[in-house]
Amino acid sequence: MQISILRLGHRLPRDERITTHVCLVARAFGASEAIYTGQHDNSLESSVSNLAKQWGGEFGIRYEKNYESVINNYKKEGFVIVHLTMYGIPLPEKIDKIKTNKKILVIVGGEQVPKDVYELADFNIAITSQPHSEVAALAVFLDYVTNSEPLKRSFSDKFKGKIKIEPSERGKKAISNKDQ
Ligand code: SAM
Repeated sequence: MQISILRLGHRLPRDERITTHVCLVARAFGASEAIYTGQHDNSLESSVSNLAKQWGGEFGIRYEKNYESVINNYKKEGFVIVHLTMYGIPLPEKIDKIKTNKKILVIVGGEQVPKDVYELADFNIAITSQPHSEVAALAVFLDYVTNSEPLKRSFSDKFKGKIKIEPSERGKKAISNKDQ
C-alpha cells in the first residue's frame, strides 16, 4: 500500500511542532511522503529530512501552494482521497472499503478546512465524533489501515537507518549502523 499525507494550512509559528509531528507519525507508520500547504517552512522541511536521514527510510516532504491541484493530480494517479474530520463517518464503518485501495492520500486540516475539501474527498472519516488533534487522528487512521503492522518489532527493519532501536524491557538500547 502506498500512503501520502496532505497537511492543509500550515501556519508559522503556531503549527511548527504539530506539522512536524504529523510528518513523524506519517513516516513511522510507513507513509512515503507528506505534502503541506499554507506557509512555506524551510525549517520544517529540513528537520523532517534530517530525521529521515538519521532514522532511515525514503520519506519525503514538500510544499505545494494549491491543495486542489494536489488532490486532483493524486486522483488522476489512482489514489483514493481520505479526509480526516470529526464531522465525517466513523472509521469502523468505512475501513474495509478504504482498504480495498492500493494508494491513499490522507488529508488532515489545520484551523479552518475549506468546504470544497469535503466534496473533493472520496471519504470524510471521523476518528471519534469529538474534536482532538490531526496527529492523533492520523495515527489511529494509519494504525487501522495498516492492520497495526508498523507496531510490530520487525517493521523497523525496513527503515535501515543509521540508528536502530533494540526493543528492551528496561532502559534505552540503540544500535548505530555506520554502513547506512
Ligand atoms: N475546526 C477544524 C475543522 O474544521 O475540522 C478542526 C481543527 S483540528 C485541530 C485539525 C485537524 O485535526 C482537522 O482538520 C482534522 O483533520 C483533524 N481532526 C481533529 N479531530 C478529529 C476527529 N475527531 N476525527 C478526524 N480528524 C480529526
